[in-house]
Amino acid sequence: MAQLSDDCFAFGGPLMSVDEAVAIIAQRVSAVAETEWVALAEADGRILASAIEAPLSLPPFTNSAVDGYAVRSADLASGAEMAFPVSGRVQAGTSASVAISPGEAVRIFTGAPMPVGADTVFMQEDIRIDGAGRVVLPPGLRAGANVRPTGEDVRKGHAAFAAGRSLQPQDVALIAAFGLTRVEVRRRLRVAVFSTGNEVVSPGSVRAAAQLFDSNRYMLSAMLRRLGCDVQDLGILRDDRASLAGALENAAANADLILTSGGVSTGEEDHVKAAVENIGTLVLWRMAIKPGRPVAMGIVKGTPFIGVPGNPVASFVTFTHVVRPTIMALSGAVPRPLVPMPVRAAFSYAKKLGRREYVRVNLRKAADGSLEALKFPREGAGLLSSLVDTDGLVELGEETTVVTPGQTVGFLGYSNLN
Ligand code: AMP
Ligand code: MG
Repeated sequence: MAQLSDDCFAFGGPLMSVDEAVAIIAQRVSAVAETEWVALAEADGRILASAIEAPLSLPPFTNSAVDGYAVRSADLASGAEMAFPVSGRVQAGTSASVAISPGEAVRIFTGAPMPVGADTVFMQEDIRIDGAGRVVLPPGLRAGANVRPTGEDVRKGHAAFAAGRSLQPQDVALIAAFGLTRVEVRRRLRVAVFSTGNEVVSPGSVRAAAQLFDSNRYMLSAMLRRLGCDVQDLGILRDDRASLAGALENAAANADLILTSGGVSTGEEDHVKAAVENIGTLVLWRMAIKPGRPVAMGIVKGTPFIGVPGNPVASFVTFTHVVRPTIMALSGAVPRPLVPMPVRAAFSYAKKLGRREYVRVNLRKAADGSLEALKFPREGAGLLSSLVDTDGLVELGEETTVVTPGQTVGFLGYSNLN
């Protein structure tokens, strides 16, 4: 388990910026220590625990990039067509080395090793065969054309991956190309997830008139799984301090992080806060972010705790800015900042100075081919459909107070937020 001090989430200021939150998490949350070896087929999305150096060069041998004819560039006259006899043939995977003598060509195929002495390949589309069976080569091909030299992709010893890399499919491909079969990764984080609220019931159970089905637990669990976590779904807790405290304490024994939604505002029926205070330490981060309300950060028996607001859109947005960086820090991943992509606003908007806002938008291709963002017409933090029916969020920085149509704004697609 990660060793975090009880006051690791302490913050002195009245209002916390998103950047301050991300920085505090990166500085004060340390990674779980345990690692494991996994087969390559299981490596996608895992966090590398140790760096990987290229154990061989790629390509491992100099080979042809095309189907064609290999020659020695020294034999080519500039500006004149030339005809060479074809002295041999080399296929991909051929082990016998083929040599080439001056004035000869060798028939070669993509991926086949270059004949010793040859350094240039004519594409088969660019040549013709004359009546004598010789290959007729056009003038003007540069020396070295259509050849992939040893190590042009990666040199042996190259620092290919640093520890903390979250492996992508193409990373797994490169590791496979190195001939490795397993990688050392950080173990998966165990995250305990609760919903809270007397009005919240699980889908599949009977719903009283004044109750609603739990949606946050499914959203948060899915987002956690996309970040590589093992989710422990611990159901719904009632708004009762003692039972909340007991459940959170039990969860702490087996989890690397406890995540709850709801019950962390400052109303008298917000019992999660009080429960955590009873059994651990808690600070409320008043974040300068909309949607979002206070986020509760704490430590229960050495295990970090995060309580996100109950409104689904506020849960979603605070997840991306508080939970995601915490998961990355706990899992030993190198922080990956969210980088908004510039798009054109097709809406006007006014906002408060000093607060980060996220506007739900759809992207559309404008007449000139550029991308423009259309704002979802309604703004409530409880509107789950506003997340479902949009493509992502436009991020409006603390300094922004107005958006006018045509202005460039930063867009974060939902697929990049997890
Ligand atoms: P709270 O943060 O507990 O004050 O809740 C804010 C709003 O979010 C209330 O309208 C709750 O009913 C709603 N809410 C809380 N938890 C959930 C949940 N798990 N799924 C859907 N809505 C929720
Ligand atoms: Mg509540």
